[in-house]
Amino acid sequence: MSGGGALQDGIAEFYDQSSGLWEDIWGDHMHHGFYDPTPTASASDHRAAQIRMIEESLRFAGITDDPTKQPKTIVDVGCGIGGSSRYLARKFGAKCQGITLSPVQAERANVLAKDEGLADNASFRVADALKQPFPDAQFDLVWSMESGEHMPEKSKFVNELARVAAPGGTIIIVTWCHRDLGPSEESLQPWEKKLLNRICNAYYLPEWCSASDYVKLLQSLSLQDIKAADWSEHVAPFWPAVIRSAFTWKGFTSLLRSGLKTIKGALVMPLMIQGYRKGVIKFAIITCRKPE
Ligand code: SAH
Repeated sequence: MSGGGALQDGIAEFYDQSSGLWEDIWGDHMHHGFYDPTPTASASDHRAAQIRMIEESLRFAGITDDPTKQPKTIVDVGCGIGGSSRYLARKFGAKCQGITLSPVQAERANVLAKDEGLADNASFRVADALKQPFPDAQFDLVWSMESGEHMPEKSKFVNELARVAAPGGTIIIVTWCHRDLGPSEESLQPWEKKLLNRICNAYYLPEWCSASDYVKLLQSLSLQDIKAADWSEHVAPFWPAVIRSAFTWKGFTSLLRSGLKTIKGALVMPLMIQGYRKGVIKFAIITCRKPE
């Protein structure tokens, strides 16, 4: 899939069509859950695992519960229906602004913020992460939870994240990557590319990159405390659970009603599991700090 307008339109339509179904079945977080690598009873509590994903990400980035270090201004880049923003607004008493390409998501996110009494602290609009509608150096926390995989120009994306971060601000990118290449490799194997391409077509993704590609981009911008980790084993129970939910009566009938793009997305879900099992897909967190 190529970059530019067609990709953006595809992303907007995909989320316009599928967000209602996702919210009905999964609630307001459109991201993987974080699980212990050895399955326990709590592995069946997927909504709790999605909240844990947020908490583990904050912890990894060194954002502790120390009130002096808590972010007061947050941008939620690729905000979905604003689950992270509302959670972070509540947790930190912060002001959050979310951007998404999907008008349906932005509207729903604003309604939910109002319903939950958070309208003053969380607001949402349609805008492009590669051309954010914010001045420089605004946000203590720049949050991108599972949106980076949709971004066609990763260097532009990372530049924008760094631009809007306040001095000393934290950037958190949690995203789907392909595996790091070995020292003698120039690209992925043809079968790996083929697998990823099939996923790209269904989920409106441009070309994938690795976590070390992100680290290099952050280094090139002289960002500090750059850290990355592979959380693939922590998200393993997630896609099987999503597939199971599609086979419930409610899941199945809603899926049929929510249109072709959503159905296409559902059909590709087993490829995500395959990608993780074969080690081609990696679930990565990359964090850093903008110098003071
Ligand atoms: N972060 C949210 C949603 C993840 S789904 C959550 O955790 O619940 C991916 C989101 O990225 C969608 O809201 C989609 O509209 C958004 N997105 C993808 N490309 C984008 C772009 N170029 N600019 C802004 N948002 C984008």
